[in-house]
Amino acid sequence: MSASDCLFCKIIAGDIPSTVVYQNDTVYCFRDINPQSRVHVLVVPREHHEDARELAGDPKLLAEVLLAGAEVARVEGIDESGYRFVFNTGDDACRTVFHAHLHVLGGEQLAGFGR
Ligand code: 5GP
Ligand code: ZN
Repeated sequence: MSASDCLFCKIIAGDIPSTVVYQNDTVYCFRDINPQSRVHVLVVPREHHEDARELAGDPKLLAEVLLAGAEVARVEGIDESGYRFVFNTGDDACRTVFHAHLHVLGGEQLAGFGR
């Protein structure tokens, strides 16, 4: 998929509305439209990368995505109570958007890992 067809590139560009939680020069973080927990925020690098593997080709950017996830947790007030980072990859994980993104989930007791 080219960046011009990409949903998250359009959200980052402001062509599709979103509720921003945190942003800086490298990432844009906004609320998931279909939250799976009380806090569910997507951390999206502004640069288009297909998936987490491709993102890991730029280790500095990957680290910035993880640091932004931690900052989202702090801004959302869940850094003490706990949170989960998720990268979905492939059909079995129900991946739907092909612009690498980190899910930040928390704000309540989450289900056991993997269930
Ligand atoms: P994936 O399944 O690819 O890991 O996650 C994609 C996420 O994007 C899903 O949790 C889905 O709810 C979210 N999403 C899809 N379309 C939109 C949208 O237009 N706006 C927002 N804020 N989130 C979206
Ligand atoms: Zn994109």
